[in-house]
Amino acid sequence: AGSPVTVIGLGKMGAALAAAFLKQGHPTTVWNRSAGKADELAKQGAIPAATIAEAVAASPLIVICVSDYAVMHDILDPIGEALSGRTLANLTNGTPEQGRQTAEWAAALGADYLDGGIMAIPPMISRPEALLLYSGSERAFEKHQRVWESLGTAMYLGADAGLAPLYDLALLSAMYGMFGGFFHAAAMVASERVKAADFTSLIIPWLNAMMTSLPHLAQAIDTGNHATDISSLDINHVGFVNLIEASRGQGVGLDLIAPIQALIRRGVAEGYGSDGLSRLAELLRQPAFKT
Ligand code: NDP
Repeated sequence: AGSPVTVIGLGKMGAALAAAFLKQGHPTTVWNRSAGKADELAKQGAIPAATIAEAVAASPLIVICVSDYAVMHDILDPIGEALSGRTLANLTNGTPEQGRQTAEWAAALGADYLDGGIMAIPPMISRPEALLLYSGSERAFEKHQRVWESLGTAMYLGADAGLAPLYDLALLSAMYGMFGGFFHAAAMVASERVKAADFTSLIIPWLNAMMTSLPHLAQAIDTGNHATDISSLDINHVGFVNLIEASRGQGVGLDLIAPIQALIRRGVAEGYGSDGLSRLAELLRQPAFKT
């Protein structure tokens, strides 16, 4: 038999987590602010708890997945002491700082704490393509390994609870950059009535081809050697003017691409014109301005 787990928060993601636990045979207790959301899960075998105290008392492992950390505290602070001797896994999206603070808060209550980042959308949960990142208590990760495996591929990053949120947000930033580039490209061709659906068949192989240069760029970032025989900041600086002018000419907003031009311009102005694009990663680590 699986090990008992309590899921707090039955939004789109929390409900998917609870369903995956049930599917793998883990006795699953559920609680949500709006009680109706437990009904469907109850039909699948979940045990709805009437109160948060009942929910926490039901299992040695508590998984929480709500809107943000403030909501998590609203829910758990009133029953804090009940967490003593249990494992709390917080799969709510947050910052590294929030992860570390929550780890301290949980330790003071006598709970083992894992912070988690979910690199998946709800329908992917329980499939191997779903990557779930964990950091914090290694003991908690190992003890409940079978529970984590029922959600997808589980990766433990280290004892610093801030690591899972850091990796999570870094991966999201790569995703947003890619989506942003796609949206700009789609807007450019839409100005000539080319459908995004048609242009996408060119974008996907193009991005896949460009993706193969990431290990090479990564090596430059890691060694600090940005010398290039492929493509310099100088030539990108010249070419980017065309991208800006063409976008403007086609009536497409510069919201997404102007910051990239600004960064290239800064690299050239600081004397790095003969370096490759990897220099931009270095410039971000020495921001010209802090926000
Ligand atoms: P939903 O909006 O579907 O669910 C939000 C949950 O938070 C609900 O259970 C809701 O309860 C609860 N909640 C909100 N405010 C309060 C409050 N004041 N008191 C008590 N409970 C409250 O969000 P998701 O399930 O999509 O997301 C949950 C977490 O998972 C987020 O951190 C999100 O970033 C992360 N995530 C989501 C992904 C996705 O694709 N959906 C992907 C990866 C991560 P109620 O039902 O009563 O409103």
